[in-house]
Amino acid sequence: MTGKLDNWIAGVSVAPAGGRYEQATNPGTGGPSALVASGGAEDIAAAVAAAKIAAAGWKRYPSAKRGRLLHALATAIRASADKFADLEIEDTGKPLAVALAEIENSAAYFEFYSGLVNLPIGETLDVEPNHHIFTRREPFGVVGIITPWNVPLNQAARACAPAFASGNVVVAKPAETSSQTTVLLAKLATEVGFPDGVFNVVLGRGSVVGTAIVSHPDVRKVAFTGSVETGRLIGHIAAERLIPLTLELGGKSANMVFADADLEFAATEAVRAFSGNAGQVCSAGTRLLVQREIHDEFLARVVEVASRIRPGADMGPLITRTQFDQVKEYFELAAAEGAKLELGGSDVVYPELDGAFYVAPTIYSGVDNGMRIAREEIFGPVLVTIPFDTEEEAIAIANDSDFGLIAGLFTKDISRALRVSDAIEAGQVFINSWSTGAVQTPFGGHKNSGYGREKGIEALHHYTHVKTVVVVY
Ligand code: NAD
Repeated sequence: MTGKLDNWIAGVSVAPAGGRYEQATNPGTGGPSALVASGGAEDIAAAVAAAKIAAAGWKRYPSAKRGRLLHALATAIRASADKFADLEIEDTGKPLAVALAEIENSAAYFEFYSGLVNLPIGETLDVEPNHHIFTRREPFGVVGIITPWNVPLNQAARACAPAFASGNVVVAKPAETSSQTTVLLAKLATEVGFPDGVFNVVLGRGSVVGTAIVSHPDVRKVAFTGSVETGRLIGHIAAERLIPLTLELGGKSANMVFADADLEFAATEAVRAFSGNAGQVCSAGTRLLVQREIHDEFLARVVEVASRIRPGADMGPLITRTQFDQVKEYFELAAAEGAKLELGGSDVVYPELDGAFYVAPTIYSGVDNGMRIAREEIFGPVLVTIPFDTEEEAIAIANDSDFGLIAGLFTKDISRALRVSDAIEAGQVFINSWSTGAVQTPFGGHKNSGYGREKGIEALHHYTHVKTVVVVY
C-alpha cells in the first residue's frame, strides 16, 4: 500500500478525529510502509458507539446467516491472498511463503467458526417438579480485541472469528507497526455483507487507543495478545471495571529431547521451533533441554540445520529497530553470563540486507536455567541448550520458568511422553513434533503466559457468558 491508512468504523474508512498519522517502517528494507492513523479516545468512542448500535441486531442475526457471512469472509481472504501478502510483507518483512501460510491460517479460522455458530448451547436442568430450568450462552456485546505485530492478520482472525461466531461485535486495535491487514480484513467483512458496525478497527498507539478500548464503559470484554507488561496494565483496568479478559502473553517454552528420540527429525523440529518467524512467536521453543548423553551430538545436528537458514529468503527480519537492538543486547548479556556461542550472534551481519533488521539464527550452549537468557523472552531467533540427566530433572527445568505457554518433547517411549506431558505446566504439549496446532486446538497459557483460551471450541466459552432461566409452571 505505502499510503494513508485510516480507521474502519461502521463500514467505512474514517480519518482519525485528531488528524494525526504516524509513519510505519518496512523492516525488510528499512524504508517506509503505510502512514498509519494515530487515533485517540474520540475515535474509540465513535467505534464503540457504532458497535453498540450494531450489537442488538447481530446478537439476533439468524445463526445460519451469520455462519454464511463468516464463511464468505474466509473465501474472500483466500481470494485476496496476494493483496494480504503484499501488505503483511510490507509491514513485517516476512518471506512470501510465511505470509501466505499465515493468510491461509487466518481464512481457516473463519471457516472453522462459520460451522460453529450454533455451538454455544445451554443445558436443561431437571431440579424439581413444575420447574423448567435452562441455561443459554449469550454474547458479551462489544468486545475489544488488541493484537501484536508478529503475525498480525492471524492474531486478528484468531480472536475475531470466535467473537463474531458467538454473536459479539468488535472494536479491534492492531499493533501500530503492522495495521494494514487488519483494516483490509474489516473492509472485506463489510464487502461480503457484515452489517455496518459489527467489525470496527481503530488504529494508533497502545497507550492511547488500547487504553481507551479497555477503559470504555460499553466494552464488556477484552481479548489481548501481547507482552506480559502490557497484559498487566490492561489487567489492572479490567479489574477496576470488573470485565472479563483473555490474556495471551509471552513464553520461554521448553523443548525436551530424550536420548531415545529420532534425533534427525528432532533436530529439524528444534530449529523450526526457535527460528520460525525469526523467533518472534510467543510459543517459540527457545529452551532446548537435551539428555546429557546425546547433548553434544544433538547440538551439532541442530547447529548444522540452523546454519542452513538464509535470512532474507527463509527467515524475515525483526520487526523494528528497537526489537533489533534489544535482541543484540541479549547477545551481549549471553557473553557476560558466560554462555558459549555456537552459531550466529552479533558478529554476523548481512551486507546485502543493509538497513533492514536481520539477525542470524543464534545458538548458545553452556547455559544454566538460572541465567537471564534462559528466563527472559528474547523474541528473536535465539536458542539456549541446557543438558539434563533424568526425566525428573527435565520436568523440573521445564517448569522452572515464569512462563507456561507450550512445551515439546521428543522420545520413543510413549509412557514417558504421557508422564512428562502430565507434569508440564503449560497450556499445550507437543509430543514428537513442534507445532502450535491447528485452528481447532485450544491455545493459551499458565503463569505469566496468561489466562483464558483462544482457538477451538474452547474459545467460544470465552466469548460468551451463561444466563440461567427458571420457569415455574
Ligand atoms: P505489546 O504488549 O507491546 O503490544 C501488543 C498490543 O498492545 C499492540 O497492539 C499495542 O499497541 C497494544 N498496547 C501497548 N501498550 C498498551 C497499553 N498500555 N494498553 C493497551 N494496549 C496497549 O506486545 P508486542 O511487543 O506487540 O508483542 C510481542 C509480545 O506479544 C510478546 O511478549 C509475545 O510473546 C506476545 N505474543 C503472545 C501471543 C500469544 O498468543 N500468547 C501471540 C503473539 C505474541
